[in-house]
Amino acid sequence: MNDVSTKWVYSFGADGTDGDTGMRNLLGGKGANLAEMSGIGLPVPPGFTITTEVCTHYYDNGRSYPDALASQVKDAIARIEAQTGARFADPENPLLVSVRSGARASMPGMMDTVLNLGLNDVTVAGLAARADDKRFAYDSYRRFIQMYSDVVMEVDHGLFEDALEEQKLRCGVFDDTGLTGDDLETLVGTYKQIVRDESGEEFPQDPNDQLWGAIGAVFNSWMNARATTYRRLNNIPASWGTAVNVQAMVFGNMGEDCATGVAFTRAPSTGENSFYGEYLINAHGEDVVAGIRHYGDMQDIEFTVQQNKLYMLQTRNGKRTGAAALRMAVEMAEEGLITRDEALLRIDPIALDQLLHPTLDPDAEKKVITQGLPASPGAAAGEIVLSADRAEELAAAGKSVILVRLETSPEDIHGMHAAAGILTARGGMTSHAAVVARGMGRACVSGAGELRFDETAGKVYIREQELAEGDIVTIDGGTGEVFLGQVDTIQPEMSGAFATIMGWADETRRMAVRTNAETPADARTAVDFGAEGIGLCRTEHMFFDVDRIIAMREMIMAVDTAGREAALAKLLPMQRQDFEELFTIMTGLPVTIRLLDPPLHEFLPHSAEELADVAAAAGISPETARQRALKLSESNPMLGHRGCRLAVTYPEICRMQARAIFEAATAIAAKGDAAPVPEIMIPLAATGRELEICKAAIDAEAEAVAGETGTRIEYLVGTMVELPRAAVCAGDLAQQAEFFSFGTNDLTQTALGISRDDAGFFMHAYTDAEIYPADPFVSIDREGVGALVRMGVEGGRAARGDIKLGICGEHGGDPASISFFEEVGLDYVSCSPYRVPAARLAAAQAAIRCRG
Ligand code: PEP
Ligand code: MG
Repeated sequence: MNDVSTKWVYSFGADGTDGDTGMRNLLGGKGANLAEMSGIGLPVPPGFTITTEVCTHYYDNGRSYPDALASQVKDAIARIEAQTGARFADPENPLLVSVRSGARASMPGMMDTVLNLGLNDVTVAGLAARADDKRFAYDSYRRFIQMYSDVVMEVDHGLFEDALEEQKLRCGVFDDTGLTGDDLETLVGTYKQIVRDESGEEFPQDPNDQLWGAIGAVFNSWMNARATTYRRLNNIPASWGTAVNVQAMVFGNMGEDCATGVAFTRAPSTGENSFYGEYLINAHGEDVVAGIRHYGDMQDIEFTVQQNKLYMLQTRNGKRTGAAALRMAVEMAEEGLITRDEALLRIDPIALDQLLHPTLDPDAEKKVITQGLPASPGAAAGEIVLSADRAEELAAAGKSVILVRLETSPEDIHGMHAAAGILTARGGMTSHAAVVARGMGRACVSGAGELRFDETAGKVYIREQELAEGDIVTIDGGTGEVFLGQVDTIQPEMSGAFATIMGWADETRRMAVRTNAETPADARTAVDFGAEGIGLCRTEHMFFDVDRIIAMREMIMAVDTAGREAALAKLLPMQRQDFEELFTIMTGLPVTIRLLDPPLHEFLPHSAEELADVAAAAGISPETARQRALKLSESNPMLGHRGCRLAVTYPEICRMQARAIFEAATAIAAKGDAAPVPEIMIPLAATGRELEICKAAIDAEAEAVAGETGTRIEYLVGTMVELPRAAVCAGDLAQQAEFFSFGTNDLTQTALGISRDDAGFFMHAYTDAEIYPADPFVSIDREGVGALVRMGVEGGRAARGDIKLGICGEHGGDPASISFFEEVGLDYVSCSPYRVPAARLAAAQAAIRCRG
């Protein structure tokens, strides 16, 4: 790639523009959009973009540049000079530029930026003369020295802040606007001394040296800690690289006829079709709107007015709440601006979750202690924490936390991700906290100006109210209110745009969406969210209740068949009732019931009390119970006596469950309703023979129940495919199984040889090192586990043409994995109830992509 003919630099400006919006991968989002705006004649200050390929080259070649880059940059600077009439280092009309990062995907605030580049001891005087404002010129210079020294020369910016404070004290003023041009000139001298002391070098005076320093710093910032974290959280590959945008500066702070601001072409929190901005200037609104129709999406625009002239500095697709995204997509499709497919593709399935978040119960007692801006919707309650690290720590320990900060910065990103909600004292609707929280779907109240902090004491004060870390507050990101204590919440209603999009998704998708549920409450929620049946009922989870777990333990710990049958007799009526309820809730929909699969470490009693309870139920001594539990404990329970191995060793367990299923179905039929057709699923099978044994027990029980009741229930017997051998020998298993459901949790565990229970500890390192592009327990490992799924599909279909194929591992609710399941042609995905709407949308998107 490093040959002279490669184009590494793309110019934009009134004299001609090399790029366009379609070149996002090469120019980054910012560069592509600057080129596009420039190309359609919007007033964009001239500049150029150094491509993402240079970034890739830089990292592939020991942080060095391609040979031809220097001359291409030189030519591009000359083009800016020709258009502006300003020149680098010109004492009278100095060219000043900004140097900013711009990746393919927006990464707000994560990488470095340098402004006012080109100022030095000589040009600062030229700027002062041109603006007729010494104060403005020296203020720009001291800001440049601080920013450049921090970003490029790694001089601690706190030293500059301290020097500024000292200067204010000396001059007897309270804020920097009180400093005169002369004061700031003195401060510039102090700043340069700080640079000399800290770095051992002079602050660079040559604009070309400054430029290359800044370009290097932007490329280096691609690998800084906060950018790396942001990429990990947003699944952005490090290989994409960033572009660098160099652009002539325009100033919004040169006088009363200048302004700077941000505008959205639609309201980013509701999606309403009305212009929304913090400093919008009416006179120029029309230009902006003309540009927007060109993009066909809501734009987030940065602009500056310098001496009554409007300049567009950036446009990008605006970040939006889930609710706003839905409304915009539906309205734009209905207006004919985009197609329905485009509308569906435009909504991030994960952001749909936002809409499913609870809101505050209007009837709940609540005490408002302060109010800020409604920055990101949803209600959240939790312990307050004052630092991002603490938020991460407590969240990892299972606590719900509200991260309370003066303002957030990109360094806080991990804490914001871990928190249930974010509350800040400073910042508007477009502040870092607001933008990032909206993107993440976290509830956020920003700009709550009454908050005061005592960081050392770990205290927050709101008027007379004193709050310490650990105190509970509730925030409502939809209204901006903050409440003391925990406030009750209610589930949201789904209507309007949500229902429309879901309707379009259902018309578009090929795969069905079922749910993983075993409790009646979960099953009802899932049906309300549009689940089309149960894809996995984990029967062992039906025994987590305190009064049921004892009977379950008694069954597991029984020493002989008689003991086990006694315990099973206690479990049978519970199971029968459970299934009857599930069949009723799921009337007319398929229900897959999985036979018991209890990894023993999750079910054996541990404490003396638990042992005593089991002993009493089984009529044995606590000591006998303890001995039995010890004997049963396994070195590797995930690979131990679980799944169908239980049924092979103790067929009576399988028979009890089959009986409960058939009796429940018979009871439904007895009420005059259509009998359900249960799908009975055998877990953790590796061979056809295991299935044959289990199926024989099920069939025998079906016969027995039919004989007793006179009602013959139709049913299917199938299996989980969750071991590599099952996938490899799928044809053999399909001789017995009428359906397969891929258990990708265990399949990932067994294919990768990574314990599901222990992965959390080291998986970070694996994703950071890009060993797997994402956590393989969250997003399917296409090459490895995915290949096994593909093998299972092919083997199953070859042996049994009409075999039903689904997935019920956690990947069934992950949009990227759903896309893979569409590609391999599964019939359905099954996921937890709250993920059902997102899965319906993701399945529709997958179908569109596969078609197109
Ligand atoms: C699986 O292994 O993917 C699965 C759904 O079963 P469980 O999580 O219950 O082991
Ligand atoms: Mg499993």
